[in-house]
Amino acid sequence: MTASPEILRCPLCQVSIESNGGALDSVQFSNGPKGTRSKLWSRVCQYLKTPDQQRQCINQDSDLRGVEQMGDAFPDAPSIDLTKS
Ligand SMILES: [Zn+2]
Repeated sequence: MTASPEILRCPLCQVSIESNGGALDSVQFSNGPKGTRSKLWSRVCQYLKTPDQQRQCINQDSDLRGVEQMGDAFPDAPSIDLTKS
């Protein structure tokens, strides 16, 4: 398999997905670091409720996005250590 990654765009979620075949896909959010399909799902795609929206979203396939990882649903925030600085 030498195919270069395919860039998919979700018209509803406003993200680009670099498709490498399922679990290795990387999602470029409109801002912030790259994430995974499961992260995209927990933050955005799961809130699409109508069948019409779900048909347009490119991240509705549970096989592709895999299981949700810890921290997927939360923003990336630096941990705050009040004992220093
Ligand atoms: Zn989507």
